Amino acid sequence: MSLNKSKIYSFKNNHDNLFLYSGYTGLILEWNNRIQNYLENKEFDEEVNNYLQGKFGESQTAASSFSIKPVVKTLTLFVTNQCNLACSYCHEKAFELHNSKSLDIETFKKTVLYFLENFEHQNVINICFWGDELLLNLQLIKESVNVLKEIGDRQGINFKFSLTTNGTFLNEEIIDFLIRYNISVEISIDGLEILHDLHRRYLDGRGSYQTIIDNVSKLAAYCDVSARVTVTNYQIDLIEMYQKLENAGFCAMKTECVVDHKLKNSEEEFRYFADNLQLFADYFIDNIKQRKIIYYTDFLNVLRNFHFGAFPNFFPCSAGLDKYAVNTDGSIYFCHYFSNIPEFKWGDVNLGFDREKRIQFLKSHLVMERGKENCDNCWAQRVCGGTCYYASYVESETTKSISDNYCRFKKEIFKKALYIYTSLLEEEKVFLDNTYLSG
Ligand code: SF4
Ligand code: SF4
Repeated sequence: MSLNKSKIYSFKNNHDNLFLYSGYTGLILEWNNRIQNYLENKEFDEEVNNYLQGKFGESQTAASSFSIKPVVKTLTLFVTNQCNLACSYCHEKAFELHNSKSLDIETFKKTVLYFLENFEHQNVINICFWGDELLLNLQLIKESVNVLKEIGDRQGINFKFSLTTNGTFLNEEIIDFLIRYNISVEISIDGLEILHDLHRRYLDGRGSYQTIIDNVSKLAAYCDVSARVTVTNYQIDLIEMYQKLENAGFCAMKTECVVDHKLKNSEEEFRYFADNLQLFADYFIDNIKQRKIIYYTDFLNVLRNFHFGAFPNFFPCSAGLDKYAVNTDGSIYFCHYFSNIPEFKWGDVNLGFDREKRIQFLKSHLVMERGKENCDNCWAQRVCGGTCYYASYVESETTKSISDNYCRFKKEIFKKALYIYTSLLEEEKVFLDNTYLSG
């Protein structure tokens, strides 16, 4: 089988040594003469061919990429459709999904029992409380946690709780509750005050940054709080942003590129971001040398993939594979960002789940189906799996396309993670593995 050279990415590490990453096999190889001869078609070298293309050529198979029987590992539950902020890029606002509805405890119980009875599951299930601002319905979250404790004890299931909040309501009572029930907390914060307050404001126009920072400092003393940063402006200093969040008490930072036509960054702005990400990658390496991990989860997740040689990703995320979202009225979707958009409704806890709709969706969203033109010729396909369905939907009104904006953002992170991985000495990889990757 002839080699598609766009499936091979060549790059240098921080010592200027040349490497290759094979998008066929997921292997990272240091450049040598044998590889050069092979790539220049000077001589066929079976061993090099096996490393680069796999023994059986393009051996990735999608056949076992999802189970036909629906499985549930993670449930994202909308607790309320109300919010106290008016973020400029809010997806709920964009699709006019804000309303006054809140989840009630009967619908909650019905939802959990429906999934337990109708979906395959193991004895750990992740429950993510979600909502426009979910802490507006704190009473329901409290009751839900108690209900799940009872069900968990009865059925031998360990429910793990997490929630994503805008961080403006973290008073003593809430902090106490989060700590008591070991609830992981993720806060949406856009890194730097000036950017955050431009986009994430109260209904009366005030910025919300300082309130969040004050609240995090109280909570972070007792539990891990991670930051979910939407990158609205690519001309940012990532090191400064990470340090500010770290100083405020955040234990980790995760970034997402903004999904909004109005905020699309130019090619020049993207180059700025790529250069800045390079500086951040060097900062990451320098810190590992001093035995400190920079908890930028976008790098760490990809590093884990390179380190352990994970299976190929056929999808961008686990939405619809083993993760589902349930809205306040009990309707089921594959992803919380699509809740209330009728064409993406897969069922209802009162009326049942459309298994066939799920299968058809997954079959038509395999990365090789969605990205025939771009992803199939991309070296990063194996680690990527395509772009977020929501980003695609906003960009082109279909989940079946690939979002250019999201694609280049993700690809840049993969490139820098490869640079980091090949720049680390063996003992530094061992340190990273012992402290984070295997955990
Ligand atoms: S979305 Fe972009 S980075 Fe990911 S596989 Fe497709 S072309 Fe490659
Ligand atoms: S489709 Fe996008 S927003 Fe939804 S779960 Fe996947 S990555 Fe997240």
